[in-house]
Amino acid sequence: MKIIAIPAFSDNYIWALINPDNQKLVVVDPGESDAVKAFITQHKLELCAILITHHHYDHTGGVADLKTQFNCRVYGPNNPKISGIDHYLQDQDTFKIAELDKEFTIFSTPGHTLDHICYYSLGYLFCGDTLFSAGCGRLFEGTSKQMYHSLAKLQALPKDTKIYCAHEYTLDNLRFAASIGFNKNAVLQKIAKIEGQLACKQASLPSILADEHQYNVFLMCNNPDFQDHIAHKFQKNCQNDPIATFTIVRQMKDQF
Ligand SMILES: [Zn+2]
Repeated sequence: MKIIAIPAFSDNYIWALINPDNQKLVVVDPGESDAVKAFITQHKLELCAILITHHHYDHTGGVADLKTQFNCRVYGPNNPKISGIDHYLQDQDTFKIAELDKEFTIFSTPGHTLDHICYYSLGYLFCGDTLFSAGCGRLFEGTSKQMYHSLAKLQALPKDTKIYCAHEYTLDNLRFAASIGFNKNAVLQKIAKIEGQLACKQASLPSILADEHQYNVFLMCNNPDFQDHIAHKFQKNCQNDPIATFTIVRQMKDQF
């Protein structure tokens, strides 16, 4: 399977999953259709399915047009706010996309929205707006507790899993991580690497889950040393409390 980022809007990525043997294409979160149609024409592909992570318009806006034009099937969460879904998915569902010869497992990951799901296929995670490189999604609908547990599910995946997030937020997230000051060397090294990639107009993604553990402060909240660091830095009482620690870090990011 070949995976290519189709840039959309100002900082979204629509992930294109391609089987080079048959030129079949699956796209994740097409917020707009024009960019996908141009990509299909350019690479002579056949769109067979769409995977949706959550209801936000910048992830679903292209569904109706693509479905009309290509008659592809659409997978996603069961939320009436999303039209055009043919296959409703929930936590722990598994399904196969024969055209890619890949099995997917669904993780329900409420937090950013309540309907959010992530798609995992051995080695690959398509996590929408739940996990970002060096960050996580804003809490628009869910609670910190829900998001903490959602991230914990993703954190437990194999360390070599490649992380395909839906936005290019990596550098901004790393600058926030640098301001937190925990594991600062790893954060600064990653900033230098990402600045180089972005300067060459490359996506900073995918990242690798094992690397995220080094610089993603939202994945450190169960670490007692990190809890102490946050408690001292922000004069809060969050020692031995991963969810309280996560809540503080998320609030600080919202204000960053
Ligand atoms: Zn969103």
